[in-house]
Amino acid sequence: MDSAVGSCNACGATGTALMKLSLGKDFFGRAYDRLSPSTDQSPKWYCEGCSMQKNLQRDFRDILGEFDKLTAGQGSTLSSQEEFQRASLRLREITAILAGAAGHAPLLTAADVSQLIGRMQTTTMQA
Ligand SMILES: [Zn+2]
Repeated sequence: MDSAVGSCNACGATGTALMKLSLGKDFFGRAYDRLSPSTDQSPKWYCEGCSMQKNLQRDFRDILGEFDKLTAGQGSTLSSQEEFQRASLRLREITAILAGAAGHAPLLTAADVSQLIGRMQTTTMQA
C-alpha cells in the first residue's frame, strides 16, 4: 500500500510520510477495537504531527467521557482517586505538548483541555 499518495485525515497534509494508526488500548487500558488492523473497516492515515495528536485526542476523549459520567453520578473509572490523579497529570502533559505544537493542532485545542482541567479541579475541591 502506498501511503505517500494520500493525505493526512486530520490536517490534509500531502507529500509527507503518513502512518496508519492502530491505537490498541485506550487511556484506561480498555481494548480499543475501532482502529485495530484486523477489524478496522475505514483505516485513517495521519502525518507524524497529527498521529501524535491523535493519541492525545484519544486520551482526552477517554478522560472527558469518564469525567462526564462521574459528574452525572454514574459509575466511572475516575471515581478511583488514583485514576483521577493519573488523568489529571495526563491532561497537564497534553497541555504542555500542545503548547509545543503551536500552529499545528487540527485535532485538539489547548482551550478544550484547559477547560476540562478546570472542571476537574472544581470537582476535587467539592469532594
Ligand atoms: Zn496531519
